[in-house]
Amino acid sequence: MQNRDVTFRAITRHVAAEVDRLAPEMVAFLQHLTRIPTVNPPGDLYAPCAEFIGQQLKAFGYDVEQIVADDSPLHTPAHPRVNVMGRFPGATQQPVLHFNGHFDVVPAGDGWTVDPFGGEIRDGKVYGRGTSDQKAGIAASIFAIEAIRRAGVTLHGTIEQSATVDEESGGFAGVATLARRGYIAQGRTTYVIITEPSNVDRICIGHRGVYWFKVTQHGRIGHGSMPQLGVSAIDHLGDVLHALTHELKPRLAERVTQMPVEPPGSRHASLNINAIFGGQPEHTVQTPCVADRAGLIGDRRFLPEEEPFDANVKPELVELLDTVNARIPGARYTLEDLMIVHPVQTDTGSPLIAAVRDSIHEVLGVTPPLMASPGTYDHKHVYRIGNVADCIAYGPGILDLAHQPDEYVEVEHLIQSAKVMAFAAMRLLGTR
Ligand SMILES: [Zn+2]
Repeated sequence: MQNRDVTFRAITRHVAAEVDRLAPEMVAFLQHLTRIPTVNPPGDLYAPCAEFIGQQLKAFGYDVEQIVADDSPLHTPAHPRVNVMGRFPGATQQPVLHFNGHFDVVPAGDGWTVDPFGGEIRDGKVYGRGTSDQKAGIAASIFAIEAIRRAGVTLHGTIEQSATVDEESGGFAGVATLARRGYIAQGRTTYVIITEPSNVDRICIGHRGVYWFKVTQHGRIGHGSMPQLGVSAIDHLGDVLHALTHELKPRLAERVTQMPVEPPGSRHASLNINAIFGGQPEHTVQTPCVADRAGLIGDRRFLPEEEPFDANVKPELVELLDTVNARIPGARYTLEDLMIVHPVQTDTGSPLIAAVRDSIHEVLGVTPPLMASPGTYDHKHVYRIGNVADCIAYGPGILDLAHQPDEYVEVEHLIQSAKVMAFAAMRLLGTR
């Protein structure tokens, strides 16, 4: 056993040196990626970005395939939904370690002091929209495996790398398409590492649930000078908002999850009202009318402890709406589900977590905390559609910088995370 450990440490030292040697090439690759403004929405330049990543994978010995989500309503000639995946065969087919990263980025927004698509380097940081979230993750995983290859080490199983679209808008033309078409699937895919920003020294094991819904109160139109002859949907919406704010929200705030959600303030169940609507549009000439329609769009974040959704989360809302509406004569409402994403959490005993944890310890000398994300990401598709249980997010980006102006990634984190990914691949697949 001790001999094996000594041998493994000798190999990792060798691979780590290859990562260091590859660092300038890895940074240049990230800069190039950053300079392709793959802004979503609407989904700009996906095809050339997928092509560029595919060429790099080919150059590193992968079999490369483009997976076009031509069945997506968002797939148009101007904005094709193009994903790319490479397979790097090892000594045996199985197990399969799949790295996934999304290359769409949110719009730059205001407040930048550097060119958001310049890929500029300053003080050891690569700046640009999508560096942390999460083109750095794509660069790290590709160069991690290349370092193993250059070190002359052969892995036992297969490495796959996919770079996908539309994560920022739900991932349906991206990872969901790969999972639906069997590219990421139980029986074929053993482990999935999503290279989203977790910070270089943490492991993300899942996320809470999301329920987006729309409530519409229906009234009866009448003359504004004789409101007693109509039924005001806006008055009723006010009652609904009051009940949501003063009855439901305090109840949700008392619920705490065992999940290690970051930031800790997000370990509670919560509700945010995204929007309210109703009555006459704000900027038109007003007429004296009783509003016959008003409503809201809610964003409910729920905990694994609150599942099942159909037995707990939704019925609680329905009961509140029923109660409020029963109090008002003539009130009527409709409830529409806009999106339901169930919580996911990888078993903390997963060998994938152990391998990445040990690798982080080896590279950084710290034992990484396990965390969960306050919002959802592509993990949901890997688990819910692909049925792959062993999935984590780990990547070099800084989570707090995601979607912020002056987003950057530390070159040092890029290098460290590539070493972690390389070591974890060797631990999970074995070497010879
Ligand atoms: Zn992301």
